[in-house]
Amino acid sequence: MTLATFLSAHKKVTRSLRNLIQDYQNQLQADQFEKFLGSLNDALLQARTEILRAPAGPERARLLHKMIDQEIRQSTKVSTTCQKGCAACCHMEVEITSDEATILGELIDNGLAIDTERLALQAARPAQSTGWQERMKSTTNRCVFLNSENSCGIYDSRPLMCRRHAVTSPAVNCESFGSEISTLYFPRVDLLISAANEDNQLKVGPMAKMIVARN
Ligand code: SF4
Repeated sequence: MTLATFLSAHKKVTRSLRNLIQDYQNQLQADQFEKFLGSLNDALLQARTEILRAPAGPERARLLHKMIDQEIRQSTKVSTTCQKGCAACCHMEVEITSDEATILGELIDNGLAIDTERLALQAARPAQSTGWQERMKSTTNRCVFLNSENSCGIYDSRPLMCRRHAVTSPAVNCESFGSEISTLYFPRVDLLISAANEDNQLKVGPMAKMIVARN
């Protein structure tokens, strides 16, 4: 399979999976690379069939979360420096899907108390606003689901971007923008997200905007 054929069949592959494909293209002989693309195509189609079997909406998002958790559990051999309560990553802009926005919106509609003023302030920011660079220095950056103990208050329902974030550099580096942060890369997780993105109805955007927009 050629790269052009692969990319035209899978237009929604994540940026990191594209980078991985690029690395393989640089390292492999042309025929080996085509075989690699063929296997990747098969794996994407299989994952897509499995994910799209669940009805669109929260049920599909929950299935994807389960698959991602399982993948991460199986592939983590290096220990991370993430600890309960460090929470710097919960002061960054997090992207979620429209299905995840429905899950989070339902929690709020069912009585989960959050700071709605802060949510509105975050939602009003342009995507990738420089305000997020202040990280923990700005209380406005605090995720509305982060509880008073600096733990995720919706851990079982947290978005996939929170699930896949696994840091190996010193936790203190996460607190300041521009510090070097190393994260673990899970190729199968990228593959699952790419497969799920092939649902054309699915939208992706900053968490606060997506939650507010669902109303
Ligand atoms: S949803 Fe939970 S894990 Fe994700 S940023 Fe918010 S508090 Fe942190």
